[in-house]
Amino acid sequence: MKRIAFFCIPAHGHTNPMLPVAAELVRRGNIVRFYSFDEFKEKINASGAEFISCDSFLPELTKQEEDSLKRVSATEMTVQDIRVTLSMDAFLEKEFQSFRPDVVYTDSVCFWGKLNAWKHQVPMVVSTSTFAFNQMSSGYMKNSPGEVAGLILGLPRISRELKKLELCGYHVKGVFSLVQSDNHTDSVVYTSRRFQPFAESFSGHYAFVGPSVFSKILPHKEKDRPLIYISMGTVINDRPDFYGKCIDALKSLNADVIISCGNAVNREGLGAVPDHIRVYPYVDQPGVLAKADVFITHCGMNSVSESLYMATPMVLYPQTGEQNAVARRVAEIGAGILLEEDSPEGIRASVQEILDNQSYGNAAAEGSADFRACPGAVGAAEFIENAPHSSDGMDVIGELNKANAKFRFLYWLIAVTVMVFAGFLVGWNSVWMTGIVAGALSGPVAKAVQKRIYAGLADRATHRGT
Ligand code: UDP
Repeated sequence: MKRIAFFCIPAHGHTNPMLPVAAELVRRGNIVRFYSFDEFKEKINASGAEFISCDSFLPELTKQEEDSLKRVSATEMTVQDIRVTLSMDAFLEKEFQSFRPDVVYTDSVCFWGKLNAWKHQVPMVVSTSTFAFNQMSSGYMKNSPGEVAGLILGLPRISRELKKLELCGYHVKGVFSLVQSDNHTDSVVYTSRRFQPFAESFSGHYAFVGPSVFSKILPHKEKDRPLIYISMGTVINDRPDFYGKCIDALKSLNADVIISCGNAVNREGLGAVPDHIRVYPYVDQPGVLAKADVFITHCGMNSVSESLYMATPMVLYPQTGEQNAVARRVAEIGAGILLEEDSPEGIRASVQEILDNQSYGNAAAEGSADFRACPGAVGAAEFIENAPHSSDGMDVIGELNKANAKFRFLYWLIAVTVMVFAGFLVGWNSVWMTGIVAGALSGPVAKAVQKRIYAGLADRATHRGT
């Protein structure tokens, strides 16, 4: 029996996958204390874990901060994450003294969980509710220029907040050390090795347990006419414009349509909605997906995992860099199509394509079989109970970085030698020209070389693992 402290940020997409894991750990006789927020109290109590409310530590937000959070600004989320950590400091100090957890299970972007596990030297396992992102897999994210600019401009503000953490005894190397998936931290990832991009680059500290869903039901698609389900998730779901276009697109389709639009959307504002289209603030999503034939999704990791689990092909409408990564992977396995044009015509054409072409459904069914073969919440619970873990496998990223450094050294050694020779043989005016060419080529050449080195390392890692 272990005492396990769960920590998560106030977000459904991050909390939901931790619940079946909490339930399984409780079932196995462990004591689970879940530090969370009142919105999730009922769900957490239902899992059998002890709910501890942290609402009083949430800072008052200005209108501007609130708007930035609604837009999922990475800078704002980081700053608020640090502020919550600071306001919880004294409380968690006492909790760690009284509860004395044997293991901390914390969401990957919940700084107060991670930082307190480090501070109190308690073994930590990270709950990763999206793909594990390292220097290889983060290449799947396509951040918009606005997101990139926001990140760069926000760095000074973040570094000011990080300094305050230092004063409270939290030693942080930098903000990336708080969010990136490294090869030394025990981590549970709620997807399969097959679906995770660049899975072979992750060490034995990773448990790819598959989607963590409570629902035990199997897909059952037999019915009189197709069912289309639409959801933009629980965070940025205030999108009456998009729901309106979906209603327009599907109003004359011989199908049932369910839209889950969240609490922020005024349903009257959506105009006349035909009888075959039903709009709800929230639905039992896995239950709906079990019957659905097409899911129009914002590509949150949980939604996509649940969709594949229920063998439902998707129309992919990602809104953030992370959702872009998930969408790209779904398209790669053939279980969905990217919504290129979010007009009623574009939506209708994408839905029709999926209904007409069985290959999407087949690929989703393969995804379902793959996910159902994963150890799920039971595997995650075992991994947490047995933490900390050691990894005797190869650290592919570590090896890759060493090889990259060697390559860069050799490249510039050769470039400088060529420059000197060019200076002697052709004339010193040619030196700067050679330098510019070497500089311009260094990026693409390094990329191509890294790809080759990675392929070799991945191959070695895979063969060691088999
Ligand atoms: N969800 C639900 N009912 C709804 C809408 C969403 O149960 O009507 C759940 C869904 O099953 C998933 C989570 O909310 O587990 C959404 O997480 P996701 O990562 O897909 O998106 P986010 O809300 O974090 O953007």
